[in-house]
Amino acid sequence: MANYIEMEDLIVKQTICGILSPTSEEPSWETIQECIRKIATLRAIETGEDFETIRIVTQLSVAHAIAYELERRTLLPVVIVDSDICPICHEDMEEGDEAGSFECLHTFHQECMLKWIITKPNCPICRFERDVN
Ligand SMILES: [Zn+2]
Ligand SMILES: [Zn+2]
Repeated sequence: MANYIEMEDLIVKQTICGILSPTSEEPSWETIQECIRKIATLRAIETGEDFETIRIVTQLSVAHAIAYELERRTLLPVVIVDSDICPICHEDMEEGDEAGSFECLHTFHQECMLKWIITKPNCPICRFERDVN
């Protein structure tokens, strides 16, 4: 089951990058629905599971992937200059890695920051609120 979800996520991610324009604009609802149907059809054929069940799961991961990708585009492009500990996962951030940063310039792993800002708009360190526009 874990493999199935990871595979699904990869396909969803690739598809989302394909349908989102490079200018942070959201694709039309029809485009999104079409893309959900395509992924769900493939999945249903591969797994033999019920199409409607797969469609609902796919719809959730697509919505999440779109939010994720749009957020990624709003991140300030930051590269880590000095190795440091990521305040979210407490693991090392290596010099030269791409990082995510708030306007307050607190820096995190890009992945960690994306997971954080999808649920909370504030910097986890200083509570600085992002200007989402
Ligand atoms: Zn991290
Ligand atoms: Zn901060």
